[in-house]
Amino acid sequence: MQYTGVLKKMDTEITEKVQYYLDMKSDFINVNQLLNKQLTLDFVTYECLNCHLEKEIYRQGFCKSCFFEIPTAGDWIMKPELSKAHLDIEDRDLTYEKKVQLQPHIVYLANSSDVKVGVTRKTQVPTRWIDQGAHEAIEIVEVPNRYLAGITEVALKEHVADKTNWRTMLKNDIKDENLVEWRERLQAFIPEEAKEYYIANNSETNINFPVEKYPAKPKSLNIVKEQTYTGKLVGIKGQYLIFEDERVFNVRSNEGIVINLTIN
Ligand SMILES: [Zn+2]
Repeated sequence: MQYTGVLKKMDTEITEKVQYYLDMKSDFINVNQLLNKQLTLDFVTYECLNCHLEKEIYRQGFCKSCFFEIPTAGDWIMKPELSKAHLDIEDRDLTYEKKVQLQPHIVYLANSSDVKVGVTRKTQVPTRWIDQGAHEAIEIVEVPNRYLAGITEVALKEHVADKTNWRTMLKNDIKDENLVEWRERLQAFIPEEAKEYYIANNSETNINFPVEKYPAKPKSLNIVKEQTYTGKLVGIKGQYLIFEDERVFNVRSNEGIVINLTIN
């Protein structure tokens, strides 16, 4: 069976184990069903997720000119504290920025390699946590806009990590932390403007990933460089496909790349 399509991050569904879906144009593949199967990935070409032209991908699935122009790739995406729609100030497209920024946002703690702080729109919980490969997570504040979430994250970063170590996450070299205690400890460092939005009485969300065998030494697969790769799929965690030979393929960081996927 062979599928061709442009890679976009896998869709997910939280069940007893996370279910993963890959949208390959004409087919919607439940990736969990490919576990223990031999897969071949072939690089075909690039396709920018915005202009759909065959242009080299720069970042986030976009070609360079789209990345620097379109409203969905503004700086405030990666740096929420730069959000200005609440002040009626435009970055690239105020209508779009108001729609996205002026809605409930969550500042959370997620444990994927270490406990880290992050920001997401409320509608993206728990998707965001699954994408990061977090085995547990908890909300700290729910604020009405992205700016308040951003400044809260910046303040909490002084006291907790804000990056995931992908190797540790994939090796499953993890600890079970009491995130309620972490939340309570960090409450004191929430900035004044966001203090009233603290969530005092929630509990951890635990997430189980469909992984049969964790790699001891994960090695990243660069499909553009290697052009073709064949391996047996033994797990899916975060946005990574994990193969039996310990190669790992980050679907999200390969957005905009057109591949042939062959199931042997
Ligand atoms: Zn483009």
